[in-house]
Amino acid sequence: MTRPDLCLDFANTRYWRGQAAPTETINGPADLAAWAKAAKAPSPREFEQAIQLREMLYRLFDAQAQGKPAAPRDLEALNLALAHAPSRKLLKRARSGYEWDVDAKSGTALALLAPVLWSAGDLLAGPRLDRVRRCANPECGWLFLDDSRAGKRRWCSMSACGNRAKARRHYHKSKEET
Ligand SMILES: [Zn+2]
Repeated sequence: MTRPDLCLDFANTRYWRGQAAPTETINGPADLAAWAKAAKAPSPREFEQAIQLREMLYRLFDAQAQGKPAAPRDLEALNLALAHAPSRKLLKRARSGYEWDVDAKSGTALALLAPVLWSAGDLLAGPRLDRVRRCANPECGWLFLDDSRAGKRRWCSMSACGNRAKARRHYHKSKEET
């Protein structure tokens, strides 16, 4: 089963986006193939295209998380990618349930990223769009889907950014008190 936030996972393959030197986990075609569980690494050109698509997805959902409309050219780029990606025609049995069968024979970036693009379209057109958040730590920039009942989750994860922010608050407070 494809997770609905697969597109956010992909956008988060570059993180600490608010820092001077963000952490990049997809540094070349082989990294992209590993991430997408593809048998064959894409060409350098396909790799470049995939990274451009990733940045487009990040901008699009980052805008959404801030309650802003996406830049028209980003939506245009997503539509273009969706139009040229392999079509969603066949289902196949997967370990748990079913998944869309991607015709990956072409080996293009769009075939490699078809499930990512579909998840972006489903998320944008689906009922959980208002649950897309960006971590409240400005250095972090992680995008996530807020699954909490109250819908008030602010941090990518309490163990990382949330606790760090709490510790910082505590530190400032104890400094003021002394
Ligand atoms: Zn975070």
